[in-house]
Amino acid sequence: MYDVCILGGGASGLATAISIAKLNSDTRICILEKNSELGKKILATGNGRCNISNEEAYGVDTVSSFFDDIYVDFLSIDKRYYPYSKKASDVRDALLIEISKYSNIEVLLNSNVLKVSHEDNFFSCSLKNSKIESKTLVIAAGGKSGPQYGTVGDGFSFSKNLGHNLSKVYPGLTSIETVEDVSILKGIRHNCLVRLSYEGKNIFTELGEVQFTNTGLSGICIFNMSNHITRGLKSNWKEDLKSHKVSLDLLPDYSESQVLKLLSDRKNLKSRKLISLIDSRLEEYIGEVTLENIKDLTFNISSVDGFDRSQVTIGGVLLDEVEKNTQESKLIKNLFLVGEVLDYSGICGGFNLNHAWLTGIKAGRYIASL
Ligand SMILES: Cc1cc2nc3c(=O)[nH]c(=O)nc-3n(C[C@H](O)[C@H](O)[C@H](O)COP(=O)(O)OP(=O)(O)OC[C@H]3O[C@@H](n4cnc5c(N)ncnc54)[C@H](O)[C@@H]3O)c2cc1C
Repeated sequence: MYDVCILGGGASGLATAISIAKLNSDTRICILEKNSELGKKILATGNGRCNISNEEAYGVDTVSSFFDDIYVDFLSIDKRYYPYSKKASDVRDALLIEISKYSNIEVLLNSNVLKVSHEDNFFSCSLKNSKIESKTLVIAAGGKSGPQYGTVGDGFSFSKNLGHNLSKVYPGLTSIETVEDVSILKGIRHNCLVRLSYEGKNIFTELGEVQFTNTGLSGICIFNMSNHITRGLKSNWKEDLKSHKVSLDLLPDYSESQVLKLLSDRKNLKSRKLISLIDSRLEEYIGEVTLENIKDLTFNISSVDGFDRSQVTIGGVLLDEVEKNTQESKLIKNLFLVGEVLDYSGICGGFNLNHAWLTGIKAGRYIASL
């Protein structure tokens, strides 16, 4: 019987284990991870650079001092924190080195938990051929996004079976596919003002770099925009997508009158400035370059990526069923919920990892004090 079993060896699970062990060397801790390695998803974050936190994230000081203790310095780029080396593998390695320092943490890899139960004041995690029992259980199994990293939504079903209520879950931070064929634009990155409208009403605006893909649009502002599509989609989602339109202002730094001047100068062969402002392939795609095409280039959405390609899951275990300061379940004593299994989802910029680290640290410190 372990004192604490941590179900999931990702960002939040590792932060929990380290935070307990640092304060309490007597607590016997077990991490159950279905993959053959810990922190597999961390390696893929931030395109391999790991956007670890954000200057504006809640609890960022706690998170940065946790990483300071394990020798990971932060580098700030536009308020986003990355490890100083900009290598996600350095973050994962620092966590693994720290875990290996504590003899009271046992790591069981290739351990896919199939079922979780709670009886007579202890928890039992069923594996294929064995059972792991513990006095305390931490559900750190993540959401449903990125199944290739081990997260297929098990944390949601375990929490539900233990009596918790969940809000509906959706894929968040995804790319979109457009009805229009944009394949000739593949690879172009262009700074735009992105607007999303639903039934003609503007519901999202963000300035940022749009990346054109073979089939549609991607990039941070498109990821953030996608949350406003998936969260509201009705059950007839294919039909409902038709009510959404994305509009790009290709020259957000230029007013309409400035663009009109650029267009007229070009027509009168006075200036070729417009040509240097817009990629030639974009011009080719637009065809006739008009004020409307430049300030309001519209796309219809044919599809939004699903959980397999989304970065985060929107929805999960209701936050008011969990103690805010300790992450302990309000329904079951000695049950803790951390990370993406909870109904929290942040925009791009390090907010999701910050939430995973922070909830893990809070739970770990409290468990160590029990
Ligand atoms: C490609 C990609 C890039 C991202 N980039 C960023 C970024 O730069 N910045 C940012 O803030 N966020 C980013 N995110 C989101 C961020 O990675 C997650 O929000 C965060 O990892 C969630 O932490 P977690 O501990 O809750 O879950 P995870 O890190 O997903 O860990 C959950 C762990 O539980 C294990 N597990 C699940 N079920 C079981 C089971 N039944 N038995 C045993 N083990 C199980 C999984 O294998 C996994 O290792 C990105 C996500 C993806 C997919």
